Amino acid sequence: MEPTTVYLTSLGCPKNRVDSEVILGTLMSGGYEPVENPLEAQVIVVNTCSFIESATQESIDTILELAQAKESGLCRLLVVAGCLPQRYGRKLVESMPEVDLFVGTSSFVQLPALITNCQTGGVERLLVEPPRYLMTSQTPRALSAPFYRGYLKIAEGCDNRCTFCTIPAIRGPYRSRPLEDLLQEAEWLASEGVVELNLIAQDTTAYGSDSGNLTGLPDLLKALAKTNRFAWIRLLYGYPNRINHALLEVMKSHDCICDYLDLPFQHVSSRLLRAMGRAGSVEEFHRLVAYLRTSLPRITLRTTFMVGFPGETEADFQKLYDFVEQTRFHRLGIFTYSAERGTKAARMKNHVPEHIKKERLAVIADLQERISLDYHKRLLDTVQPVLIEGTSSETDLLLEGRLASQAPEVDGRVLINKGFGQVGKIMPVRITEAHPYDIVGEVVNPRGRSDLF
Ligand code: SF4
Repeated sequence: MEPTTVYLTSLGCPKNRVDSEVILGTLMSGGYEPVENPLEAQVIVVNTCSFIESATQESIDTILELAQAKESGLCRLLVVAGCLPQRYGRKLVESMPEVDLFVGTSSFVQLPALITNCQTGGVERLLVEPPRYLMTSQTPRALSAPFYRGYLKIAEGCDNRCTFCTIPAIRGPYRSRPLEDLLQEAEWLASEGVVELNLIAQDTTAYGSDSGNLTGLPDLLKALAKTNRFAWIRLLYGYPNRINHALLEVMKSHDCICDYLDLPFQHVSSRLLRAMGRAGSVEEFHRLVAYLRTSLPRITLRTTFMVGFPGETEADFQKLYDFVEQTRFHRLGIFTYSAERGTKAARMKNHVPEHIKKERLAVIADLQERISLDYHKRLLDTVQPVLIEGTSSETDLLLEGRLASQAPEVDGRVLINKGFGQVGKIMPVRITEAHPYDIVGEVVNPRGRSDLF
């Protein structure tokens, strides 16, 4: 029997990418053959994102686009998986007749059986279960990131209750994966060539909290570092109020753990933070940043802010602006508030007009561009370890790479215009140009000279 060909597209965040790798791994272990061209696929799977309106729209657009492959290609079954079906369920079934099967965030591992059921006349087009699924190191997974980069999903769900966020409803309560199981998966990722391991979850700093283990994350990081299998171990998606001394001690004591912390603060106005269902204040956040910079002087701080939350006044925004100007984050993501159906915030009064939201976003983005450029200027003429990623997406004349202080897919890059680089290797690069988000450099030999290659 010719294997059934399958095409999968993955939308959303790295956590969803891991789910997509599990979907593809599960289908491949069920005898499916992945193809790169949707027109050559008998089964098409769209693993969707739906945490905010714009992501939902992108998912719907992608589904409708790929549905055309049922007319012009080999496709005879279109499957929609992930956050969109989990969030909208039956409403989708009625509104999208071109889709044959909808599976939620806890049901996609049953896809081989569900597809067979569909192909043999099964009528049920929707399977959405309470979000309780948790992958293990034994779960089939077809890696999709470049060989040298890996994502380790250490937990699922979220127990925080930010009033603007739909994720707890889509992904369920916080569920940590056992440490031993994570070490097994990490060992496998290393055997596949991974040198940069990115730890992900909705809230990585809550790791172990669901079983009352307050040093869960430091213990996990220490165990991963002790394997000596990774050049870089990076922590993403932290929660500011869960940073503790034990974590910083582990980060300080292991060179392979990147001096990098991604801590979304969202805002600094105490009144707004309360309305967001988040703890903290501008004073507390200043103290936290000072503590982090004292404990880890070379730390790279990434954060995320939201402007335009209901009730945000000009004074609140000015407070945020001043905090960004004074704190000078290395990396900063800025978003406008999006009223999401079913959230507490969407039912609040005093929504901020869209044009004001956009103006405030532009003001912070402009400020951060100046701050980021200044940080990059300080790297000029220094030699930095850079993970070589390959030919630049812009031109074959350039190589591309990243510093340990540049997380994949969200931070800038190092563009390399001189010297020989080996993909997947961390090599010394002399920084020769600074730009707001990217920097330019040349590969040098260990003695810092470029002309010997
Ligand atoms: S921490 Fe808040 S914003 Fe992040 S996933 Fe949890 S509820 Fe949503």
